[in-house]
Parts: sequence; structure tokens; C-alpha cells
Amino acid sequence: MIEELKSLDELVAEAEKQGKTISALTLELQAASMKTTQEALTQKMHETLLIMRQSAENGMLETASPSGLSGGVAKKMAESQAGLLGDVAQKAVTYALAIAEHNACMGKIIAAPTAGSCGILPGILLALGECKDLSDDELVRGLFNAGAVGMVIAQNASLSGAQGGCAAECGSAGAMAACAVTELLGGTPTQCAHACAIAIKAIMGLVCDPVAGLVEVPCVKRNATGAAIALTAAEMALAGIESALPADQVIGAMKSVGCMMHESLRETSQGGLAATKTAREIEKRLRSK
Ligand code: SF4
Repeated sequence: MIEELKSLDELVAEAEKQGKTISALTLELQAASMKTTQEALTQKMHETLLIMRQSAENGMLETASPSGLSGGVAKKMAESQAGLLGDVAQKAVTYALAIAEHNACMGKIIAAPTAGSCGILPGILLALGECKDLSDDELVRGLFNAGAVGMVIAQNASLSGAQGGCAAECGSAGAMAACAVTELLGGTPTQCAHACAIAIKAIMGLVCDPVAGLVEVPCVKRNATGAAIALTAAEMALAGIESALPADQVIGAMKSVGCMMHESLRETSQGGLAATKTAREIEKRLRSK
């Protein structure tokens, strides 16, 4: 049963023992756990991927959220000529912005794992599909891989900004995406776990401080930077670079840092960026509307 695999270490060990990918093992165990077929679950995941793609397409068209704080940045990113990012990263960051903006505009998105961090995983997978010629079947495999990571983090730490700060949302999304990319580009389950650990370490301690309590500033742009971090983590893992600390211990540290975080930095909009002079002015302006 999938519920019996309570750590990434166990998941990776089982996958390596059976000579399977994390996604294949997850699909098999999840189907057994839900008493359904792998085909039915795969079909459901294709529907999820379709919504992710539609949210990216719709997000590219957004011009302004109801608050006026979001809109138009994905389009600008798509048209950027600076050339600092490679094809995959450029597209991933663009789609991450688009999906996060679509969320800010009350559009339909897939929480992956949360609405606030909804752009990172799909942004990367959609970019990978286009730039590396991966089929939807392969991207769906990536979603099963990422789902397993999200499940382990949910069991051992938190996926909620109110509990663990933004590290729990964007950090978890980055770990899920880094793991999925590593598998899709040929990495072993062990390399996948290293990618997860590297991604979480990069975002450890990130506070949740949404301006005016809206999932827009800094959330939308954090999806873009979160995607870039996840791709960097996957690239490192695929190059054979290992995390000095095991992924499960990194997840444990993320939980403990989240618990130590003052409540003003856990989605209450009382501290961090939400408490800056400009943020307070924005809040006042929105309240008076
Ligand atoms: S800042 Fe808070 S609300 Fe915004 S994405 Fe991060 S965890 Fe979610």
C-alpha cells in the first residue's frame, strides 16, 4: 500500500529494489490502494494535465486581477529578449507566472500542491514537454512521481504556508517538480531524492507573507523563481551531484524550521513583505475600495 511508504528513503529503496521508476511504483501502489486500475488513474491524471495546460494558456491572456496587483507579467516574460535563461527555464518560468496569475484572477488551476504554488510543477512539465519533446504520457508519469513526493512531505512536514511558511508551499512544489524532472530525463530514484533535497534546502526558511492577504505579491513571482530553483536542483542531480544531507532529514528540518517560524510569518500578513510601508499602503487602498 502506498500509505506504508512513509519516507522518500523507503520509496526510493523500494523502487530501486523492484527496478522501477518512482512514478511506476506510485501508480501501481496508488491503484491498489484506491482499488482501481492503473488505466483509470492514468486517465484521471491526463485530465489533470489538461487543466494545467489550459491554466497556462489562459494565464498568458490575463491582464489584471481584481485587486490590480497581478496580470501581464507572463506575457512580458514570454517576450523577454534578455536571453539569460535556456529554452526550458525560460518557458517554465513563463508558464509558472501564467498559471499563478490565472490563480490570482480566480481562474481554474490545479493546486500542486497548493493554489499559492500552483505554477511551479505544471510550468516545468509543460516546458519540458515542448522543449524536450516529451509526450503527455511521459508528463503524466512526472505527475505521479511528483505526487509521491508531495505525499511524503504532507505526511512528514506540511504543505501549508500557514503551518510551515512559503517553504512548505513553494519549497514542496519545487521538490516535487525537481524529482519529476530528474526521473523524466533519465535519473535514477536515488538521483530523484537528491534533487528533492537540493530543492528544499534552497528555499528552507522562506516565510509566507502575502501582501494584503492576497495570493499575489510575492506569490506569483515566487512561482517563477521556485521553478528556476527546481530546474537547477534537477540539473545538479542529473549531473551526479549529491545532497550531503538525505532528503528525509531535509524534510524533517523543513518541518522544524516551519514550527519555529513566528506566526507573523505564516500567512497572517503581519510580517515580512506584508508589513512593508508599500504593502500597508496597498492594503489600505484595497480596503477603501
Ligand atoms: S507567500 Fe504564502 S500565500 Fe504566497 S505562495 Fe507562499 S505560502 Fe502561499
